[in-house]
Amino acid sequence: MEVEVVRVKITLACTECKQRNYDTKKDKKQHPERMETKKYCRFCKAHTLHKETK
Ligand SMILES: [Zn+2]
Repeated sequence: MEVEVVRVKITLACTECKQRNYDTKKDKKQHPERMETKKYCRFCKAHTLHKETK
């Protein structure tokens, strides 16, 4: 039985300073919409909301 792998590469950008801080992968089945996650931004020196970008 074949397992469908739907992992795509995404970039997470800080919503405060717009810096692209993280490259990661996501499962398109689990997250069909744009991901938003709180991560540490070394430019803001704080935890900020990071959004998926292209
Ligand atoms: Zn930032």
